Amino acid sequence: MSTRRRFLQTGLAASATLSAAASLSPRLFAAGQDTKKLGYALVGLGRLSTGQLAPALQKTEHAKLAAVVSGTPSKREEWRKKYDLGDHVYSYEEYDQLADDDAVDVIYIVLPNGLHAEYTIRGAETGKHVFCEKPMANTAEECRQMIAACEKAGVKLGIGYRCQFEPHHLRAIEAVRSGEIGELRGLGAGFGFTMPADADPDQKLHWRLDRSLAGGGPLMDVGIYALQFCRYITGREPVAVTAQTTLTDPVKFRQVEETLGWTMTFPSVLGDDLPEPLRAQVTASCVTTYNFSGFNQGEAFGPDGSVLLKPAYSYTGLKGFVKGEPMNLDTPDQFAVEIDAFSQSVKNGTPFKCPGEEGLRDLLAIEAIYKAAETGRRTEVAKV
Ligand code: NDP
Repeated sequence: MSTRRRFLQTGLAASATLSAAASLSPRLFAAGQDTKKLGYALVGLGRLSTGQLAPALQKTEHAKLAAVVSGTPSKREEWRKKYDLGDHVYSYEEYDQLADDDAVDVIYIVLPNGLHAEYTIRGAETGKHVFCEKPMANTAEECRQMIAACEKAGVKLGIGYRCQFEPHHLRAIEAVRSGEIGELRGLGAGFGFTMPADADPDQKLHWRLDRSLAGGGPLMDVGIYALQFCRYITGREPVAVTAQTTLTDPVKFRQVEETLGWTMTFPSVLGDDLPEPLRAQVTASCVTTYNFSGFNQGEAFGPDGSVLLKPAYSYTGLKGFVKGEPMNLDTPDQFAVEIDAFSQSVKNGTPFKCPGEEGLRDLLAIEAIYKAAETGRRTEVAKV
């Protein structure tokens, strides 16, 4: 079997395609056995819950929408009717009552970043499993507390890194790791968008500009996709980083950065058998911004060519190329795939691909990047 086929079978089946995943877990599908769909409670009914997660939960094979938690009374009524939720509709004051709701197996945190830690920890204390959107929290210390709370409660914690289940990204990992472009030498990645002209950190809608709710600027929100790309392409952790910011609108961006460019140094991917001084290191160059749109790519370079994803991080229409040849892959509903993967790991008691430690590793790199931007110095990334 070719390396490519072997990778796609293991990589995609373990984490992504529903049919392949089903074939890996026959006990789920045996007559009369564990065919129950897990009930999910969405916490925070904003754009992601409304536009992506609720629709995804209508398609999932192992999960369904069972409850919602919202601070907005009109949304609670609308969702109760639209999704036939009956009594399974809660305000934030009623959040802890999820403990007594037998329809709920998993609490899915879709709140502003600064609320992830509190709601994950309280969620774990209800005894339900917790799935939390990216970035995991505002700080690495909060991530550690979330991991500890879930461990103490004996529940699973998953982080919403949809691209780790997406076929173009899996193919890119396989192409690089199997040496199709020779030994990896460089990475370039960036993701950003233009914040609306009238956005202000004092508006609830624009919490992404409010440091306490967002934890930082575009790095926390979308730059994290470029960071993830570099981490999972190499399968290694960054050793050290440099960074600098630029600012054109000091009023709008009075609390968080506007544009940030950073570099990371990774250990080599191939050549582990070589003596240390001969092992090539990998340099990554990344950009994130709230000041322009269209930067949405990840590329890996080796002596024999490159692997390019562009657009790389959108919900649909991803494109990928290996040495200029199109990948010709479909983009599934990334949210349905990751929710099903988490649900299967809960049902089977098997490890999930993106546990809390994966979110923690990103926050450790992010903290080093912010420190490097602030000090202007090369900064080492702390270890888990
Ligand atoms: P929104 O601003 O659209 O929604 C956030 C919701 O959180 C609000 O609508 C509100 O819901 C609730 N909320 C509770 N307290 C506050 C508060 N103090 N200020 C603002 N909102 C509050 O954000 P998104 O849906 O875009 O993002 C939510 C999370 O999902 C973030 O962590 C983000 O990083 C992540 N995300 C992940 C994506 C992915 O592709 N994986 C894509 C987009 C976002 P209610 O009125 O119901 O209380």
